[in-house]
Amino acid sequence: MIVGACIVIVVAFLYRASGCYMETIEENENEEVVDNGITTVHFLDVGQGDSILICGTEKNILIDAGERDQGEVVIADIKELGVDTIDCIIATHPHSDHIGGLPDVLQYAAENDDLEVKQVIMPDIPESDIPTTAIFTKLLDGIEANDLSVTFAEYEMTIDTGSSILTIYPPAEGKNYSSLNDYSVCAHLDCGDTSFFFTGDMEFPEEEDLLEGGYLDGVTATVLKAGHHGSDTSSSKEFLNQIKPQYVVISCGAGNSYGHPNKDALTRFKKHTNEIYRTDLEGTITCTTDGRNLAWTMEGR
Ligand SMILES: [Zn+2]
Repeated sequence: MIVGACIVIVVAFLYRASGCYMETIEENENEEVVDNGITTVHFLDVGQGDSILICGTEKNILIDAGERDQGEVVIADIKELGVDTIDCIIATHPHSDHIGGLPDVLQYAAENDDLEVKQVIMPDIPESDIPTTAIFTKLLDGIEANDLSVTFAEYEMTIDTGSSILTIYPPAEGKNYSSLNDYSVCAHLDCGDTSFFFTGDMEFPEEEDLLEGGYLDGVTATVLKAGHHGSDTSSSKEFLNQIKPQYVVISCGAGNSYGHPNKDALTRFKKHTNEIYRTDLEGTITCTTDGRNLAWTMEGR
C-alpha cells in the first residue's frame, strides 16, 4: 500500500448538454495512488481495431470499441465481466476501427437499465478536420441518447478509478495534422509501481509533438499499448526511449490486410522488451495489477 500526501482538487464542469448535465473531474496534484487495489486492463479482441476496458475498484473506463460489427462483442464482454457502469468512454479518434462499435454500446446503455455510461471524452479536433462520416454522426447521436455531451480531452485531466489514476494526454495544442490518427487521445494509467500507456493510433507526428512540447516529460509505462496496431509509422525510437515499456500489447486482426504489426516496429519494441503480446495471436489479453505485480491472462485461440 502506498500512502501518499494526496491533494485532490475537485473541479466541477458544467457542460452544455441539454438538461445541464454535470460532471466532475478529479485533478490529482500527486501522482501516487493513495490506496492500491486491483486494477484490471482488458485488451479486448475486436479483430482489426482497438477496444480496452479498464476496471478499477470504483470506476470503469472503456477506450474505443472496434469496428461497427464489434459493438455487440464489446457489449457481451462488458456484461460477462459484470460491469454495469462505464464511468468514462474515451473515443481516441474518429476512425471506424475505434469508434465503430461505440454507437451500439451507447445505444444499449440508453435503452437498458443494466448499463450506464456517464461521460464520453473525445479529442478537440480543428473544425476543418471534423469528420462528416455516418459513423461519427451515429456516435454523436449515441452520446445524446444518454443525455450526455462530449467532454473534450484536456491536458492532464484525470480520472481516479479507486485503484489507479488515468491521466489524459490529448494531442499537442495548436497542431494541424494530415491524418486523424494524430489527433488520438492518449492516456497514462498509474497503478502505483505499475503503469500503462494507451496511444490510440498516434503516429510519428503526434509522438514528436508530445515529446518536443514536453508533455511526456517524466512519463514512463510498464505496459505500452502500441500505437496504430503496431504500424511502422508509430512507436518511434525516441517515443519508446521516453516510455521505456517492459511489455508491449498490439491490438490487430489476424491476417489483416495492413500487415500489422510491422516487422521494423517489432524490432524497435524488441530493443526494450521481448514481452510482446498480440490480440491477433492471443485473442483478448487481460492484465491484472495490484500496483506492484502484473498477472497476464491470454484468451488463446
Ligand atoms: Zn486504428
